Amino acid sequence: MTNNIEHIGIAVKNLEAATSIYEKLLGTVCYKVEAVESEGVSTAFLKSGVNKIELLEASSSDSPIAKFIEKRGEGIHHIAFAVEDIASEMVRLAAAGFTILNGNPKKGADNKLVCFVHPKSTNGVLIELCQDIK
Ligand code: ZN
Repeated sequence: MTNNIEHIGIAVKNLEAATSIYEKLLGTVCYKVEAVESEGVSTAFLKSGVNKIELLEASSSDSPIAKFIEKRGEGIHHIAFAVEDIASEMVRLAAAGFTILNGNPKKGADNKLVCFVHPKSTNGVLIELCQDIK
């Protein structure tokens, strides 16, 4: 079972410029900037009430974010749901016919274990599951 939406990921061409736009939009300041080497991205996080926005900029040309922007332009890249037990959710979703993009949970940004569900099995939306690392 999934819990709240943990964050919404937005693919951007320029992290600094996008951060300043979203700071103005939300009337808040970015609280965390983090590079995730394994994904080839730099991320910036902002809060809006209980919700979080993750801005993602490609840090290499073969990053999934670079490919996404090339194909579809900037915009909403994924929706992330919080889960208590990511390993059991991955088993449940795989058994239900969803395509999980990574075999094991991996370390994502913001102190999370994450996995992704292929958009082909979710009506065109990339879904991320994330569990807090305690
Ligand atoms: Zn994310």
